[in-house]
Amino acid sequence: MSQITHHYAQSLSNTVSQVSPSLLHSMQLSIYNRDLAHELNIPNQWQKADELMSLMGRNNALGRDAIAQKYGGHQFGVWNPDLGDGRGLLLGEWQDNSGKSWDLHLKGAGQTPYSRMGDGRAVLRSTIREYLASEALHALGIPTSRALCLFSSDHPVLREQLETGAMMIRVAPSHLRFGHFEYYYHTKQEATLNQIFEYTFKHHFPELVGVDKPHAGLLRAVVHSTATLIAKWQAFGFCHGVMNTDNMSIHGITFDFGPYAFLDQFIPDYICNHSDHQGRYAYDQQPGVALWNLNAFAQAFMGHMDIEEIREILGEYEPAILDEYTRLMQGKFGFAVSLPNDNLIVNDFMDILVNERRDYTISFRALCEVSTSADNQAFTRHFIDQARVSKWLQRYIERINQETRTEAERMSAMQQANPSYVLRNYLAQKAIKEAQEGDFSETENLLKVLKSPFNEQPGFERYAAEPPASESGIALSCSS
Ligand code: AMP
Ligand code: MG
Repeated sequence: MSQITHHYAQSLSNTVSQVSPSLLHSMQLSIYNRDLAHELNIPNQWQKADELMSLMGRNNALGRDAIAQKYGGHQFGVWNPDLGDGRGLLLGEWQDNSGKSWDLHLKGAGQTPYSRMGDGRAVLRSTIREYLASEALHALGIPTSRALCLFSSDHPVLREQLETGAMMIRVAPSHLRFGHFEYYYHTKQEATLNQIFEYTFKHHFPELVGVDKPHAGLLRAVVHSTATLIAKWQAFGFCHGVMNTDNMSIHGITFDFGPYAFLDQFIPDYICNHSDHQGRYAYDQQPGVALWNLNAFAQAFMGHMDIEEIREILGEYEPAILDEYTRLMQGKFGFAVSLPNDNLIVNDFMDILVNERRDYTISFRALCEVSTSADNQAFTRHFIDQARVSKWLQRYIERINQETRTEAERMSAMQQANPSYVLRNYLAQKAIKEAQEGDFSETENLLKVLKSPFNEQPGFERYAAEPPASESGIALSCSS
């Protein structure tokens, strides 16, 4: 039977602060994720704004035991012990009918002891961005936190300009970040660190309870799930933007998105966060940064594992990410089996995309149409250096001729690996602008299209288009 629990608040009470949500002026339930609610067996009454807001009241089931979690993190490579939920609260965990537990986290819920100078709020712009991205990533098969609902309001919130406040309920297996473990390690609170480890095993990695080396098992699980996640980001052209260790989940899910972007043109060193002056979190840096973050996380295991064992497990990251990335790229090129020179064909195509600054998503979708028996002019016309592309295409066709699948089978498999629709920033911007004027229909349209990213959707072709030149490669600020 589904129910709300407060295991984190109860078991780790010494690491949290109890804070009641502070709701916004004229708050409205603007988006509700019925599919997710249905998957999680959440009662239908929650769709009713009054019911849901009342549940979040200080005496009711979702407000009564709300807490802010304490954590730290490495931000742009620098250790910061002063982090924590400064504007989000864990309302409780939701146990679905299968017994799985999901954190319900209210983002933008007001100030907490960890707000520092912040107002504890989130603006509509960033809340819509997180909502859209979580649902888009999920539909692409990329592990991510999810969005249950979004509240808008008239509540003024000052950022670079005056905006309005909003809240969303984020759903994730937990909100345990690398930074939770780092904080209790670096502040030498060994007993509390151990409490967090034990809590993590019991509630999130029950297969490790009672095994010989549970810490090694946890580190290995996080190394592998992170490797798989980052490989997927790279294959789909997703840039997170702020891969600080407080934004890294121990579940290997995409987490705490700020100034993220899906690539438009294929620019490997593309930086989506305009506060990231050094390009630390550029698209092509993500695999290396994730390993750096895992190293920072692994330090917290030093009391339980010897250094050689930690090194050995961290050493599994590189082969794991390469394996997954290779598998995904094989799928994108329609190679069901792996042949010796596949990587050359892949790399040469990527070089063409870089040199010609072609659109990443559109180029791969065009590749799905290449046929061994046609002249493929529609494909070559997509490029400037047609002689070069024709030569490459000859090699590619020779290669796909070695596939044992029929052409129809290959094309259809490729369409399931190469989305037509991704959440381009210019599309999100348009939806946000209209929502700021009170009209959420464009946000709903985008959500609908992005729910089936691999299928052509007649009437929605424009959502697959490249951005107009003026809006290509927008970099976003961290301010949210
Ligand atoms: P983020 O950039 O959202 O990952 O946040 C980094 C840290 O700053 C976290 O500890 C947040 O809780 C905190 N923070 C971000 N924005 C605000 C805000 N408006 N009010 C209070 N704390 C905030
Ligand atoms: Mg964060």
